[in-house]
Amino acid sequence: MSAASFDALPESVRALAQADFGQVAARFRAAGLTVGLPARGVLTVRGAASAAQDEKRPSVLLSVGVHGDETGPIEMVAHAVEALSRSAHELKVDLMLCVGNIDAIASGKRFIDADLNRMFRTDRGDLASTFEAGRADALIAATRDFFDGAGPQRWHLDLHTAIRASRYPKFAIVPELIQEGPRKDLIGWLGQGGIEAVIMNPKSAGTYSYWTAERHGAAASTVELGRIGTLGQNDLSQFAAMSAALCGLLRGAPGQPGSAPLVFNTAQSITKLSDAFRMSFGRDTENFTPLKQGEVIATDGDTVYTVQHDEEFVVFPNPDVRVGLRAGIMVVRAL
Ligand SMILES: [Zn+2]
Repeated sequence: MSAASFDALPESVRALAQADFGQVAARFRAAGLTVGLPARGVLTVRGAASAAQDEKRPSVLLSVGVHGDETGPIEMVAHAVEALSRSAHELKVDLMLCVGNIDAIASGKRFIDADLNRMFRTDRGDLASTFEAGRADALIAATRDFFDGAGPQRWHLDLHTAIRASRYPKFAIVPELIQEGPRKDLIGWLGQGGIEAVIMNPKSAGTYSYWTAERHGAAASTVELGRIGTLGQNDLSQFAAMSAALCGLLRGAPGQPGSAPLVFNTAQSITKLSDAFRMSFGRDTENFTPLKQGEVIATDGDTVYTVQHDEEFVVFPNPDVRVGLRAGIMVVRAL
């Protein structure tokens, strides 16, 4: 894949894709808001500090481009933040905007050395010396500073697009450990944003959203908004509902109620244990493809992964991941 071309892009999209916050930062600052640039690719915008903890504005972390080839959310958020910066007094939350893997975006690639969205863990094994490990450290520090001293309402929306087709093109992964109230609000809000299915995830795979849920008590989600596309050529109409929901969240406005997403629980997580790992299907398998009880999902030496429930659906199948990482999730409908 060749380097991404930033020519002919709308200026706001070019700027966000290159993590150039100059103009939006200036507009927020001119409106009297407190603007910070705590790390490369990270912008924070805060209102006046409030003494009382329960009077604090909600804190919202928006991240895009954690995978450098997932450009749709960059375009969508660029337009949303551009508009918001021109009416900055409408911002009703403390905002952290994060462009995840700037170098991968510039190269038109998913990552430089390794998947950034597996680096949000303390033990990185043989990935510790990769480019993305250093990038994750910078994001972890900026994220900690943002949520330290934040009020009780904490959100993190990590926006992605999927590599492969999906029976539910728009779906989200939600850490199970989020408390019930915020979790319900989050899932309701995801429905407003057009999310059709939610997968409850009991265990970290080293993702950014699980990290913020676990470490900072954020109502956090990895949000898959449709298919991967080229920067500047994404069909933004597929993101219209999510864009409207985001605009409402940032302005403290209740959105249009959406359909409640279908909720799935994780039945089993398929880990690649060795190079002998063989999956019964390829990485081009559609997300949420159903498998019947007893069907073999994968073999890995003496380990055989089979479907345990009457029916399980496979999500994120990828036999090509590194040994030790998640090669797929099997999910079942929550009752
Ligand atoms: Zn992604």
